[in-house]
Amino acid sequence: MKAYKVLGTTDDVTTCELCGKQELKGTVALMPLDADGNEDGEACYFGVSCAAKAAGWTLKEVRVGIKAAKEEALAEERARRIEEREAEKRAYNAWVAETYGSGATLKDAVQKHGVAGLWAQFRAAQAAPVVDEEPAEAAPFRETVLRVADEERTVRTELGDRVRTVKQLEAAHTKAVKAALVEMRRANLPAFEAAAKSAEDEALKSRGAWWVQEAAKRARNIARRAERGTTFGCTSAWASALKPLPKIRYTEEVPAYLVEIEPDHYATPEAAEQLALI
Ligand SMILES: [Zn+2]
Repeated sequence: MKAYKVLGTTDDVTTCELCGKQELKGTVALMPLDADGNEDGEACYFGVSCAAKAAGWTLKEVRVGIKAAKEEALAEERARRIEEREAEKRAYNAWVAETYGSGATLKDAVQKHGVAGLWAQFRAAQAAPVVDEEPAEAAPFRETVLRVADEERTVRTELGDRVRTVKQLEAAHTKAVKAALVEMRRANLPAFEAAAKSAEDEALKSRGAWWVQEAAKRARNIARRAERGTTFGCTSAWASALKPLPKIRYTEEVPAYLVEIEPDHYATPEAAEQLALI
């Protein structure tokens, strides 16, 4: 008789592999063992009575085996959780040492944030995808001075709970600068409108001078952007001319609208007509 070990029970398999009985409430998963007691092959799924028959057990022995398997699985799960917690604690200690150092600086951090606060920071730092980034300490803040007409404003973004890495700092700062610019420009709308109006008056007076016309367009665009609250892109009149040509795509198929003017040579109907005239 073959030796088996109970792996557990499952209601995923409801057909007994021994007698073929279907629609069972569940089956017992048995792992065949070799002569040395090592797992040998794949798990079989038997009904409770067939499991007893196959392994030469009493029904009671099957139930004892099922209970033991459940307890073993629970113990494994518990051990896994304990190991996970230990690993997290090690990672936390390493993170604290790296972030706050030790001794007095660490004591200050604990006093300021509390141990729960430090754990929360650690968990947040773990959750954020940090890929080979410069440590944030290298650049604790970003500062930009904005000038719109006569108004000057300093936008400063500092590291905080949600801003921890250089990348995050820069993204947050860019966002703040854009928002401040939009706000300042909108506040300055009457001045932009006046500038646009006077540039347009000027353009009407000197129709021949293209740069005056361009300046008027530019002034009007500035006013429009301030009104809409959009920031400006760096597009010049030459930008479109500098763009590369679109990629050429080759095809084997001759479009239906082309006319064959001689074997394997095609032209548009207009071109074909002109060629015929010549
Ligand atoms: Zn069976």
